[in-house]
Amino acid sequence: MITRHEFEQARNQTAAMLRKAGIVATDREIADMDVADFGLGRLSIEGAQIVTLVHTERIAARVIVLFPGQTLPEHRHPPGKSDPGKEEVVRGIWGTVRVYADGQPSIAPGVIPPGKDALYTVRHETILKPGEQILLSPGDRHWFQAGKDGAVLYSFSTLLSDAIDEFTNPQVVRKTRIEG
Ligand code: ZN
Repeated sequence: MITRHEFEQARNQTAAMLRKAGIVATDREIADMDVADFGLGRLSIEGAQIVTLVHTERIAARVIVLFPGQTLPEHRHPPGKSDPGKEEVVRGIWGTVRVYADGQPSIAPGVIPPGKDALYTVRHETILKPGEQILLSPGDRHWFQAGKDGAVLYSFSTLLSDAIDEFTNPQVVRKTRIEG
C-alpha cells in the first residue's frame, strides 16, 4: 500500500523523468500510469512506475521508469492457456538500468535489496545504456534495478499478462492499493 501523497509524488517525478528522456505521453497516459509498490509498501526500494502506451490481447508497449536505485522485483512470465508466455524486450532510453537474468552471477555494481537475498535468485548482470536492449524469453526469471540517476526504459512484449506474472516473492501483490 502507498499513500495518496506518495502516489502523486511518484507520478510527478515520473512525468519529469519522461520529459528529460524525451518521451511524449498524453495527459491521460500520465494520469493512468501504474505506480507499483508490488504490495511491499516500500516504493523507493522495490517498485516501478509504468506508463502504458499500447496494449491489446497480444502486444504491449510500455515505458518503465525506475527512480535512483529502485528495483523491480524478480519475476517470470509463465505460459498462458494458448500462449508460450510473454516475450519481452527491454530497451534503455535514459539513465542506466541493470537487468538480471539467469547465468554466471556477476552482480556489481547492483545490489540485492536489503534482507531479500532469497528472493532475488538470478544474478547475471547486464547493464543497459540508452539504445541498448535485451530480449527476455518466455519463462526466464528477471529483475531490474536503476543506476544512481534512475532509468527510463521501453518494455515491448507479447501478451499483456501481468495478472499471471509469477513473482519470486510470494508477498507480492500486483495491484497497487492507494490509501486515502
Ligand atoms: Zn518481465
